[in-house]
Amino acid sequence: RVVSAAPASPNEEALERALRPKRLQEYVGQAKAREQLEIFVGAARHRAEALDHVLLFGPPGLGKTTLSHIIAAELGVNLRQTSGPVLEKPKDLAAILTSLEKHDVLFIDEIHRLSPVVEEILYPALEDYQIDIMIGDGPAARSIKLDLQPFTLVGATTRAGMLTNPLRDRFGIVARLEFYTAEELARIVGRSAALLDVPIDDGGAAEIARRSRGTPRIANRLLRRVRDYAQVKGTGHIDAPIADKALALLDVDPLGFDVMDRKLLEAVVHRFDGGPVGLENLAAAIGEESGTIEDVIEPYLIQQGFLQRTPRGRTATLAAFRHLGVAPPQAAAG
Ligand code: ADP
Repeated sequence: RVVSAAPASPNEEALERALRPKRLQEYVGQAKAREQLEIFVGAARHRAEALDHVLLFGPPGLGKTTLSHIIAAELGVNLRQTSGPVLEKPKDLAAILTSLEKHDVLFIDEIHRLSPVVEEILYPALEDYQIDIMIGDGPAARSIKLDLQPFTLVGATTRAGMLTNPLRDRFGIVARLEFYTAEELARIVGRSAALLDVPIDDGGAAEIARRSRGTPRIANRLLRRVRDYAQVKGTGHIDAPIADKALALLDVDPLGFDVMDRKLLEAVVHRFDGGPVGLENLAAAIGEESGTIEDVIEPYLIQQGFLQRTPRGRTATLAAFRHLGVAPPQAAAG
């Protein structure tokens, strides 16, 4: 499927790296996050201090990893990258923390998935640049304090609400990444096409942009699929009609919804009469994990006004009924 939480393959990861903007100047959109970072990074550099810890949150593919690399580049320091589930034991994190150089950036993706014992180590590290580690075991075991170099943690998560309070409180800078506008995505598609040497006109870029679920990762992915189509079925040049045909073949509908989006909307409308339906029931009905629904599928449907989250569950809006060509019941939301 086109929408997924992560890059699909090592191949795709390499491509993503190649397409990643390297500096804040090249980073398209996210005006608010960019402005915040410009100011705070500038100030940290000016005072020759470590930047405050940064929490980035928002759905997958919006540019959290990219931004963490940019922060390190703008600070002129090294970046160490890891993720919540990879750090199984306190010593895994301790090894990384003690190897950081002055003012380095440590990027922890999926930081909401840190185990509690690992998170425990992080608190004094973030607060005082110190860690407590246990030496030896049994009755001879003792704890010693180690000083760390001042560093910046950049944490990324799909949902800020999943962080524990003590962890969230330790981030001085919190930036929420938003879905991109079609204009911003068209610029990203244009930039990627130039880097990949793909001939595309403004109409082609606009069509791909409009149907990318507000997400740069999806825009880049669709660009590559459309390129394949244009090479086989056309002259290789991407314009709006070619993009439209390719996207239809990929099951991306005119609004940019993919198979899972439609499956979810159809379930709410047809099986639950427009809702409200609880998350777990919905997950069971479409055979998807509730976490994937919350993190990946529904944020865009909600932002676009097709779905609402109410205390009693998810409801379809009038726009959803209309999109599916179904007459709405009298009481439908929206
Ligand atoms: P996340 O970490 O939020 O899942 P990534 O940072 O890996 O997302 O971004 C996915 C891809 O989207 C990157 O390879 C990058 O090329 C592209 N991308 C993300 N944000 C931007 C942006 N603001 N401008 C240009 N390209 C972007």
